[in-house]
Amino acid sequence: MFKVSARAFPRRSPIFSSKCFASTLTLIETNGSKISPASLSTLNAASKLNQPITCLVLGSDAKKISESEFKNLELSSSNLKISKILYNENSNFDHLLAENISNILTNLINDSKNDITHFFANSSSIGKNIIPRVAALLDVQPISDIINIKDSKTFIRPIYAGNAIATVESSDKLILSTIRSSAFSQISSDSSINNSIVIEELPINDSDITSNNDNKITWVSESLTKSERPDLSSAKVVVSGGRGLKSKENFDKLIDPLAKALNAAVGASRAAVDAGFVDNSLQVGQTGKVIAPDLYFAIGISGAIQHLAGMKDSKTIVAINKLEDEPIYKIADYGLVGDLFEILPELTEKISALKK
Ligand SMILES: Cc1cc2nc3c(=O)[nH]c(=O)nc-3n(C[C@H](O)[C@H](O)[C@H](O)COP(=O)(O)OP(=O)(O)OC[C@H]3O[C@@H](n4cnc5c(N)ncnc54)[C@H](O)[C@@H]3O)c2cc1C
Repeated sequence: MFKVSARAFPRRSPIFSSKCFASTLTLIETNGSKISPASLSTLNAASKLNQPITCLVLGSDAKKISESEFKNLELSSSNLKISKILYNENSNFDHLLAENISNILTNLINDSKNDITHFFANSSSIGKNIIPRVAALLDVQPISDIINIKDSKTFIRPIYAGNAIATVESSDKLILSTIRSSAFSQISSDSSINNSIVIEELPINDSDITSNNDNKITWVSESLTKSERPDLSSAKVVVSGGRGLKSKENFDKLIDPLAKALNAAVGASRAAVDAGFVDNSLQVGQTGKVIAPDLYFAIGISGAIQHLAGMKDSKTIVAINKLEDEPIYKIADYGLVGDLFEILPELTEKISALKK
């Protein structure tokens, strides 16, 4: 791992020359009636700028979420200063399409009374869609996939699939960024805390929603894989299987029970996905999900660089592989060299017994 410094290409700054009360606008994604785990991480990232945060909540339940979900949030180690929540209840925002909300965001950011100097969104399919479009409309250089914040102008982000880390300093007056949620812990909720936050409705006309879209883009449908297991992106424990499992039947028979015993999410290498052992939404790596759980099991996975790009920041890594010189052992904290077909049934049985 090495460090490089790069300067974001300076572009003409579209807004304010001087600011008295800088503020960070944060786009909140929701899961039904809750703030999404990734947005709780993005709020943590926003808190590192040590300036007031304005949260934007959009969708059918926006008012309910704004009134119930923010007041008990706390961050033990740092300053969380949510000063305002702006909401708009409109089912058009249940699926945050960049085409529908870019003009709204642009107007909000350009409104000088809001004093917005930073706009953060999750590094999710939603944030990755919205930030570039808004950045283009405002003519600023977005900084994507931030994993750390040095100061209000200087950010750390991975490049070359995580094989190098760039320190990026922006000269723009407005910073637009996506935040990699696995790099920031989620702020938590504590019912003994009762933050006083201004909650305001953000008036939005239907013409604002369609003006950037011309009705060319509409939400059609989504197909979500239903699983009893925790969500792979935010799980604290992940059990991943690779080509070493040899078949879908083995994967289901050996990985799922271990994941169940550990209350873990299931992940997989690309080779396991390509072989049809599991759905590709479970792929971990450069072209899959980038995660950093507390505990990651790599089972029958060799540790190709593209797989490591998705899990190497896990706090503790356990590898089970029959070959002791596989690359996965170079980053593993614990290694069990042996035949997974013998090890896994015994491991699952022992963990299940401990939990009884
Ligand atoms: C552009 C690009 C993007 C990619 N993106 C990703 C990505 O996002 N995620 C990803 O995972 N890969 C990605 N890959 C593929 C990557 O290069 C590897 O091919 C893949 O990760 C290998 O998966 P694997 O470790 O399961 O399989 P293998 O490399 O075949 O490893 C199987 C392992 O199982 C072990 N094994 C076999 N039998 C047993 C047994 N009985 N007991 C114990 N151990 C056993 C073997 O020793 C071996 O280490 C990408 C490749 C490219 C080119």
